[in-house]
Amino acid sequence: MTDVQAQLIEQARQKLGPKGVMTDANEIEPWLTDWRGRAHGTAPAMLAPASTEEVAFVVGLAAEHGVPLVPQGGNTGMSAGATPPADGSALLLSMRRMNRIRSISAGDRLAVAEAGVVLAALHDAAHEVGMRFPLTLGSRGSCTIGGLTSTNAGGTQVLKFGTMRALVAGLEAVLPDGSVHHGLSGLKKDNRGYSLDQLLIGAEGTLGVITAVALKLVPAVAARAVAWAAVETPQRALDLLRFLEARTGSIEGFELVPGDSLALVLKHIPGTRSPLAGSHPWHVLVEATTSDGTIEIGAELERLLASALEDGIIVDAVLAASETHAEALWKIRDSISEAERTEGQTLAHDISVAVTDMPRFIVEAAATVEAAFPGVVASGFGHLGDGNIHFHVRAGSHAGLDWYEREGAAITRMVDDLVTEAGGSISAEHGIGQLKRDEFARLAPPGRVHALRAIKQALDPLGIMNPGKLVP
Ligand SMILES: Cc1cc2nc3c(=O)[nH]c(=O)nc-3n(C[C@H](O)[C@H](O)[C@H](O)COP(=O)(O)OP(=O)(O)OC[C@H]3O[C@@H](n4cnc5c(N)ncnc54)[C@H](O)[C@@H]3O)c2cc1C
Repeated sequence: MTDVQAQLIEQARQKLGPKGVMTDANEIEPWLTDWRGRAHGTAPAMLAPASTEEVAFVVGLAAEHGVPLVPQGGNTGMSAGATPPADGSALLLSMRRMNRIRSISAGDRLAVAEAGVVLAALHDAAHEVGMRFPLTLGSRGSCTIGGLTSTNAGGTQVLKFGTMRALVAGLEAVLPDGSVHHGLSGLKKDNRGYSLDQLLIGAEGTLGVITAVALKLVPAVAARAVAWAAVETPQRALDLLRFLEARTGSIEGFELVPGDSLALVLKHIPGTRSPLAGSHPWHVLVEATTSDGTIEIGAELERLLASALEDGIIVDAVLAASETHAEALWKIRDSISEAERTEGQTLAHDISVAVTDMPRFIVEAAATVEAAFPGVVASGFGHLGDGNIHFHVRAGSHAGLDWYEREGAAITRMVDDLVTEAGGSISAEHGIGQLKRDEFARLAPPGRVHALRAIKQALDPLGIMNPGKLVP
């Protein structure tokens, strides 16, 4: 710990009290490694402010002393954006104590949640007032509103409701000079120039600290229907989506699951069962919802799937017979990453290309990677309807302690090149963080890099906000 850091920590302790400053290495340790276990950092202290005023105080101190801060929510991010640098130069800024829902109104269809509110807690609060916050993902029990906003997270309902960018009505944040941006009014119309809110969404903590967010709510679901279908190819899966969309406006979840991923889940996740008899190369999880209690949503989805079966789009399907059954189907989808982690080493690529190009991309990119690195297993799963899949490459017969070091970078370069050639993005929803920064620098168009650097320099000239992340 440097003298300057020690001085800052002491000043913070006086303002934040003992709960707001942790220097015990054991207490800090769990927060120094990212969720995937790929990046490890060190930090002499973790500061945990409990109010916007305290955050502004801490950021002011950081600016005064020139000590960088690494904002952190639930630490579930996939690009190690919340992991401090290894040299101990930065302090962790945990936002988890700012966990109050300041207001929630069914009338205004808005909730104002502090940055440290866990997504599942917001879901519960919205449910209590007959509303819903329509974004969900596998990490909902740990990830926070501040982290979701800072990574512009997506999840499984993007098809109908969009990413965080579409769901944030406004936000409050402390800027790198310690001033507070007050944007919580939720105004539908506000044309006072650049949108600071939109600039901070997806900024990964590099432009300021989000302290609270006004979030759009929608009416609670009156009924949902969940089904599992087997298809021959990813193209057939997309055909099914278009078939359904042409006949109903109720589809809000549509997830592609390769047979290989299903097999891993069944092997490693206790209590899971194959949804259909027989083995199929590709599967789709479909969710249809309605907020109108008079609509027979299950019967509608069943009828549509029967037609799709008749037309040869799908080869088999099952409609969840109960909520427990529906949850069991979703559990399979949500457990894919965990099952892969149990199986062994996996290189994850969260990529997007145009929706119509995705089926071909999945098949061709997997074949290209498997041909270049014989023995590895490549496949894509996830949000097909958004043109976003998680393209994962498993070590397969190449497994070995040094697999990442030996082949990881070369495989990732190949995948990223294929994505870029297809006009896509090497980060669809997980952000750049520190894990994808080099690839971003290698492949991003110069204009984009120039703009990012200029914005960063203008708002954070001292470079105290999450250095080493996102901006190449
Ligand atoms: C099982 C699992 C499934 C997932 N599924 C999806 C998915 O389907 N779709 C998807 O988009 N993502 C998914 N994610 C990743 C997702 O990005 C994170 O879950 C979430 O968005 C990050 O929230 P967090 O609070 O954990 O943030 P952290 O991991 O703590 O931080 C993430 C980034 O945000 C910054 N940050 C955090 N809080 C603040 C703040 N208050 N102000 C400024 N910056 C801040 C950090 O510095 C870091 O750069 C998944 C993760 C897991 C573990």
